Amino acid sequence: MMIFRRAPWLVVLALVAGVACGHLTDPPLQSDAEPFVPPPAYARWWAMVEACSGISRPLANVQWFAARGVLLNPDGGGEQVGGYYSLASNRIVLAGNDTIDGSVVRHEMLHALIRVRGHPRAEFLERCGGIVACGPDCVQEAGPAPAPDAGTPTVMPVELEVTGIVSPTTPNSSTDGGLFTFTITVRNPFTHPVIALLRSFAGTTPRSYPYDVQGVSGGSGGAHLAFDSGVTYFLAGETKRDVVDLAVAPNGFPAFRALPGQGGEGFALSPGTYTFRGGYGDHLAEIIGVVVSQ
Ligand SMILES: [Zn+2]
Repeated sequence: MMIFRRAPWLVVLALVAGVACGHLTDPPLQSDAEPFVPPPAYARWWAMVEACSGISRPLANVQWFAARGVLLNPDGGGEQVGGYYSLASNRIVLAGNDTIDGSVVRHEMLHALIRVRGHPRAEFLERCGGIVACGPDCVQEAGPAPAPDAGTPTVMPVELEVTGIVSPTTPNSSTDGGLFTFTITVRNPFTHPVIALLRSFAGTTPRSYPYDVQGVSGGSGGAHLAFDSGVTYFLAGETKRDVVDLAVAPNGFPAFRALPGQGGEGFALSPGTYTFRGGYGDHLAEIIGVVVSQ
């Protein structure tokens, strides 16, 4: 059974809008922000963002800081943010609760790679869409999706090819500190562009990518939401993907809870056997079996 625990992309909507990009000096560090050494998973996340953006730079040149607790937008306004990037000293500052929150960290990594002010649609929603977080504020700043050609056929999600893959295939705590990804891919098999119809209930934002994880001790899941209409438009043969970040739970850690730093979306799985199922709209992919080991 699907348990839609929360709408995860809502929690990152406060991601700050390209703060301080282009400034000659960094905004002042919050007093409780401390430098930290990037954990091993960052190398994989950096490589993911290099691959989708097509831009390469040394990860080692980025300075990392984390606040102990909440992080406030250094440009003022007082709102909480998951993180921000500052070009002046190539610095990423994260909220304490988001230091291993994959989609938030990769969002800031993308800023550090493209070094362009704001949230360009081409990068945050097209090339790296689904790999980096881009909540409503980010989508709004990216601007509206281009209007599809009149007469573009509409299709139901069931007409698209939907698959899921866990990486590494056998998650374990000695690989990337136990952080792993579940990637849902959806491909347009037609030789022409299509618009997929995502069902929306009572005026709510439609679910784009639902996901569900079940084990002997219970289950959890959620869904990413289609804040951007671009998620429904597919070029001929185009494949889109969406990444869900998960973790191996340390011994004694409660099942299906988020590790400290994992943010509002992810959760950790104790060693055991699980079924994973992703989807696009109401088209659910085949169930895959995954063994999580310590
Ligand atoms: Zn941003």
